[in-house]
Amino acid sequence: MSALIRAQGGAGHMRNVAKAQPSASCRPPDTAVLLLEWWDRERRELPWRTPPGRVPDPYRVWLSEIMLQQTTVKAVIPFYDRFLARWPDVTALASAPLDEVLAAWAGLGYYSRARNLHKCAKLIAEHHGGRFPTGSGELVKLPGIGPYTAAAIAAIAFGEAATPVDGNIERVVARLFAVTVPLPASKPTLKSLAASLTPPARAGDFAQALMDLGASVCTPKRPSCLVCPLQTSCRAHADGLAAQLPLKPTKADRPLRVGLAFVALREDGSVLLRRRPEAGLLGGMLEVPSTEWSDALPPLDQALRAAPVHGQWWAVPGTVTHTFTHFRLELMIYRAVVPNETALTFWADPQRCQWVPRRALNSAALPSVMRKVVAHGLREQ
Ligand code: SF4
Repeated sequence: MSALIRAQGGAGHMRNVAKAQPSASCRPPDTAVLLLEWWDRERRELPWRTPPGRVPDPYRVWLSEIMLQQTTVKAVIPFYDRFLARWPDVTALASAPLDEVLAAWAGLGYYSRARNLHKCAKLIAEHHGGRFPTGSGELVKLPGIGPYTAAAIAAIAFGEAATPVDGNIERVVARLFAVTVPLPASKPTLKSLAASLTPPARAGDFAQALMDLGASVCTPKRPSCLVCPLQTSCRAHADGLAAQLPLKPTKADRPLRVGLAFVALREDGSVLLRRRPEAGLLGGMLEVPSTEWSDALPPLDQALRAAPVHGQWWAVPGTVTHTFTHFRLELMIYRAVVPNETALTFWADPQRCQWVPRRALNSAALPSVMRKVVAHGLREQ
């Protein structure tokens, strides 16, 4: 094992980790061959996968990849089956009313994906003759398709030697090459290392094999190195680092942002929620209206001017904290009970707001940080 050093990033838990030097011991051809041999024996059978020797249907690949964004395979399967039974091709989906698509999506979360799915289907039907573009460079221009999804569709449906890299694949690659620069700084390196492994033929199978390896063998906490087909070429395994990689910044390394959230409760029991912009953090999800999340809170009288309704706002004791990938958030919670006919202020951005009955909060598209805020704001004092 190479000399022990403290890896870049400076966090305490990164001590005793070998220096990040992609190793020649992980030879791309060997890795691809070994992984594909394993996958031919062990591949997961999933409803959107095509049996060996059959040409994949780009619609099914696209539909599954959109559904799988930020969702587990297990959660996606019943939704995928229902969508496919109801809208068997992209033209059928494009002809469906948006409301029906959104209703069928209910329960899968991140509703911006459903809106983009429908928008993309219409675009394909109306401007591409019902056929998906075949290259990742064209696919990435379509609504709801980012670089990962474009690479996945291009590789799986069209055989392009593209390499989709998500968190699972980053983990496998960080271990194969013993990359000890913490995420997210290591992302570009991991992406190019993943690309270096991708074979010119069977790129789609290779991408799916990496996904399966990350899901079933090279798992986050306890990688099953003893049964791994890549064990002999894995540097993290050789160095005894497998379970430690990839390194992530410790909580203390993440900057703190603060804000003030307004839990407005109407006399009829409804709570005011607002839809976040489609792009960006928690895009398209519902939130409790709040001030900007920034390094420091403005003076209280100024912060309270961002309240979504006029009322008697009072501070709920305690704060709500949440850790995102790149920062920690601490929110002070203010609460007000207001009459049913209360008008929203200009600052609330009324077009994005809705009053949601308390009994419907559980099924609302609220991310976990906002569930904490609602629970804190509504708790009995
Ligand atoms: Fe992951 Fe272990 Fe396989 Fe390396 S040997 S790729 S750490 S499961």
